[in-house]
Amino acid sequence: MSQFPQVKDTLQLIEKLVSIPSPSGNTRKVIDSCEQYLENLGLEMKRNRKGGLLITIPGKNKEQHRMLTAHVDTLGAMVKEIKSNGRLKPTMIGGFRWNSVEGEYCKIETDSGKTYTGTILMKQTSVHVYKDAGEAKRNEQNIEVRIDEITKSEEETRKLGINVGDFVSFDPRVQITPSGYIKSRHLDDKASTAILLQLIKHIQSEKIELPYTTHFLISNNEEIGYGGNANISPETVEYLAVDMGALGEGQASDEYTVSICAKDSSGPYHYGLRKHLVQLAKDNNIDYKVDIYPYYGSDASAAINAGHDIVHGLVGPGIESSHAFERTHESSLINTEKLLFAYVMSPITEI
Ligand SMILES: [Zn+2]
Repeated sequence: MSQFPQVKDTLQLIEKLVSIPSPSGNTRKVIDSCEQYLENLGLEMKRNRKGGLLITIPGKNKEQHRMLTAHVDTLGAMVKEIKSNGRLKPTMIGGFRWNSVEGEYCKIETDSGKTYTGTILMKQTSVHVYKDAGEAKRNEQNIEVRIDEITKSEEETRKLGINVGDFVSFDPRVQITPSGYIKSRHLDDKASTAILLQLIKHIQSEKIELPYTTHFLISNNEEIGYGGNANISPETVEYLAVDMGALGEGQASDEYTVSICAKDSSGPYHYGLRKHLVQLAKDNNIDYKVDIYPYYGSDASAAINAGHDIVHGLVGPGIESSHAFERTHESSLINTEKLLFAYVMSPITEI
């Protein structure tokens, strides 16, 4: 049996995924890439109508199922207006602050599939011109996209084929450091997507028999609230979202352990499943942290809100400066991979 996890492969896969633009609403290319990664393994795969990818591995017990999900959609923006100076006024996709993308390079994708590059800037950027460059509010009124094309008017920008409704994606600026960090935008939740894809590949290529039929959903609308709240089979007992642990002052999570969520803004996660995950971590010498994320919701809580009668949980690698300049360490990825493997091999929680 090959060694699992292989963190170098996970890092490479994360690098590949974050480099494919996929703001919520425009995720086909990244879903194609996930599907290609798993092809030729003889897996049962299908796309749901929302565009997500559903993979099912039959297990020994076919009456009780499990589901694990990670999402590939990311934060981004959309062209709201073309300004009279030819620049673009963006509107947000997902929840972030404009200051976290100020100065970022971006791509504008037209509906014909043509891509232009640009930069997200405050209109008051030049300190030689604007006295309020530092104090001006970072908001939709002041933020604009400077396109790397010769255009000085709305008409010239329209001639490029750019229109209201075009998607804008942020440059991930991915870097893997010799000290074991990966820093990039969109580690939420492409780090966990890579982990799930690796796990599926490992189970399938090593012909590991799972105790229960297990579904894996690569969802594509999580950042806007409804990624993984459907396609849950009636046999599904446990539903585990694999997403990021939130770091900051007072948080227990860090960049080196797997974070097990006890509660987020949707309320507590299932107590029995949380205790089961903690026990698995203890039994397998996996470094973990139990934590509470104050301003957070996951696809598992979205599924509960949609009315599914399931046992729900949330785990993931700790992501520093989430929805901004994200970073994690390979040890957090390894601990998450180990916990997920132990979990899919474990008995279903006694409720
Ligand atoms: Zn996420």
